[in-house]
Amino acid sequence: MFDFMLTDEQRALRDEVRAFVRDEVPRQLILDMDADEVRYPRGYIEKLAAHRLLGLRFPPQYGGRGLGWQEEIVALEEIGVLGASLACLFSLPSIVGEALHVFGTPDQKARWLRPALAGQLTVAEALTEPRGGSDFFGTTTAAVRDGDGFRLRGQKRFVVGAEGADLFLVYARTDPDAKPHQGISAFIVERGEGVEVHHVYGLMGTRGGGTGRLYFRDAYVPAENLIGGLNGGAAVFYEMMIPERMTSAAGALGMARAALEIAARYADRRVAFGQKIRRFEGVSFKVADGLTRLDAARGLVYATARAVDDGVASPGRVRRLVSESKKFATGAAWEVVNDAMQIMGGIGYTDIYPIERLLRDVRLLTIWTGTDEIMNLIIQHEFYKEFLAARPPARDIEADAREADNVAEKVYE
Ligand SMILES: Cc1cc2nc3c(=O)[nH]c(=O)nc-3n(C[C@H](O)[C@H](O)[C@H](O)COP(=O)(O)OP(=O)(O)OC[C@H]3O[C@@H](n4cnc5c(N)ncnc54)[C@H](O)[C@@H]3O)c2cc1C
Repeated sequence: MFDFMLTDEQRALRDEVRAFVRDEVPRQLILDMDADEVRYPRGYIEKLAAHRLLGLRFPPQYGGRGLGWQEEIVALEEIGVLGASLACLFSLPSIVGEALHVFGTPDQKARWLRPALAGQLTVAEALTEPRGGSDFFGTTTAAVRDGDGFRLRGQKRFVVGAEGADLFLVYARTDPDAKPHQGISAFIVERGEGVEVHHVYGLMGTRGGGTGRLYFRDAYVPAENLIGGLNGGAAVFYEMMIPERMTSAAGALGMARAALEIAARYADRRVAFGQKIRRFEGVSFKVADGLTRLDAARGLVYATARAVDDGVASPGRVRRLVSESKKFATGAAWEVVNDAMQIMGGIGYTDIYPIERLLRDVRLLTIWTGTDEIMNLIIQHEFYKEFLAARPPARDIEADAREADNVAEKVYE
């Protein structure tokens, strides 16, 4: 993040997380996760909790630090250098925690939020179904009333943490006759009878985070596990999309920064045609483009974090900014890491340097937590809603053309 924009407290937090990343995450863990030899690094989550780094935004009474989004993105850029899986596992208590913090009852917060931030319970989020992730409101997983609770039937897929999590935040249809937005509920589902986890995916990257398939076979869920009330899932979903997408955006900054720094250092040492390759414009301009993309992404993510923290922007504007941040930062990260590989030449494609692993990880970021296409749908939708309702501009700029009065040529249909 931009050092000069940070407060002393934010700088101290950044240094604290940097020290955690340096001292507490063994290189071997990253290698074993990438080799699928570690399926779910519970010890890493426990260490984060021991350092009080989980759920930084939540109140101290639940184990957080009562900080804001600006602080969380500063922390996540540092965690992001570890790659997508460890960044995602850092983020999950923030994502699932948002639902519990905003919609949970005091009892639900005591049962699940506090232990999650203490690293005693691990969490995962299950939205995507085999029939699709983009069309979230088409959810077919169903929760049917059974006495004091519900029977959950259906499947979810691509759930990070499926293999190791104790709790799943699951969306299910609770009113099949209602409009899609009015008939879905969010539940905390505890691992147990009727909840099956299958390891079915050979992932290109982002490995070792326990990404799996979930089957709910008449799993019993007590009514007190409903989050946000019966058929209140849409509000929970919209709220959770803030942490879901902000964490993707901020983690991407760290991954891109790591790759860019490796490539910049390499370009300052590697010699071709008798000079350091950074003396060639073809190389140094890629570094310049990468820095520009990264700073632009940081600026947008930081502005969005402020918009969420300050609470003054309309929900629609926040949705647009969050979607822009997610799309822009993850797209920038892909381009930066891809260029870093080009700068490194053939050695960048090997496992002598971690660029190839970062490239495999970063490829996912424009797909998960809402694809680029879905971000674009939201961005233009929220823009038009605001734009068409707004007053005309103070100056009639359309009139600033020589032939502006030629209305016969202003043909729209
Ligand atoms: C490794 C990994 C980890 C993941 N982790 C999680 C997790 O922890 N929890 C979870 O719930 N999900 C998770 N996901 C799922 C991820 O969020 C989805 O894959 C993503 O939202 C896209 O859904 P889909 O794969 O079903 O693609 P689809 O929804 O089938 O989309 C396919 C293509 O069609 C495009 N498309 C769809 N609708 C439109 C439209 N209206 N306009 C334009 N284009 C459209 C999409 O952009 C995409 O390009 C993960 C996925 C992966 C691969």
